[in-house]
Amino acid sequence: FMSVSQAVFHLSILIPYFIESSVSFERVQHMLEDAPTVVEADLPAPMPPLAHTIAMDNVTFGYTEDHPVLKGLSLSIPAGSFAAFVGPSGSGKSTALQLLLRFYDPDEGRITYDGLDVKQISERSLREQVGIVFQDTFLFNASIKQNLQLSDPLAAEEDWVAACKAAHLHETIRRWPEGYDTPIIQEGGSLSGGQRQRLSIARTLLRKPSILLLDEVTSALDFATEADINRAIAQWKGGSTIISVTHRLASIIDADLIFVFQDGNIAESGTHGQLLERKGLYREMWEKQYGFRVPVSESQA
Ligand code: ADP
Ligand code: MG
Repeated sequence: FMSVSQAVFHLSILIPYFIESSVSFERVQHMLEDAPTVVEADLPAPMPPLAHTIAMDNVTFGYTEDHPVLKGLSLSIPAGSFAAFVGPSGSGKSTALQLLLRFYDPDEGRITYDGLDVKQISERSLREQVGIVFQDTFLFNASIKQNLQLSDPLAAEEDWVAACKAAHLHETIRRWPEGYDTPIIQEGGSLSGGQRQRLSIARTLLRKPSILLLDEVTSALDFATEADINRAIAQWKGGSTIISVTHRLASIIDADLIFVFQDGNIAESGTHGQLLERKGLYREMWEKQYGFRVPVSESQA
């Protein structure tokens, strides 16, 4: 299930395809009319490549007026870093990502990229620079290749092969008789859940967003595959900034910065080692998940 804002986001990159494939334009329009209303600035600015910081500054936000979800949340992520959002379900992690993409505007506070308020940035350049992969995949009844080309119609074969290699999907596709022309069948289809998720990761990697948001994307994968993909994404990243929301704490041990969400705010932040030492929520979550106390030598590292 996808929220309307997520659906609209997908539509915004997929509309050329809809038009080509002559899906009812009225239907698309109808979905767009349901879109939450964020208003583009009068003179929207292009977004320069991120050089310094992504910041959420005292952000308060609720989907409805009587129920704040983010409550004065502040965080700052240096360009080029691998950051992770963790914390209990419902603590506001996905909401924070959606605000970074400007699906919604904060009720109070500001979101800035290198000091530039996201409200000033043109939607188009924001979409070009900030890519997101959702937990729920969104694939079309079309071939693997066509699904990849949706994110970059001009991509050459070597580009999509590289993206699929990074997502650990290329070897699988290569073995299929129809290869990249294999059709994706929606229900009871040809691809497993993990393969669909990897295809959706590859599709986003293909766009080479300079900021990559991952919302529990590896949840349908087994641990070994998740570790492989995280490694591949880290290698892929080059100059890009990554924010990964995950349940599996072991997959973000190497993150540069971990933000622990609790009830719409940041309870604590730091590296894995620093957070273990604090003996706070992160350590509690870690011990609950991995069922053992962390060796003293490691927590002192
Ligand atoms: P997390 O990703 O940490 O699990 P979310 O950001 O998804 O948390 O949700 C935070 C809170 O906002 C939850 O109480 C959730 O029920 C609520 N929420 C999330 N999405 C919506 C929405 N589209 N409309 C109304 N409430 C929502
Ligand atoms: Mg979430």
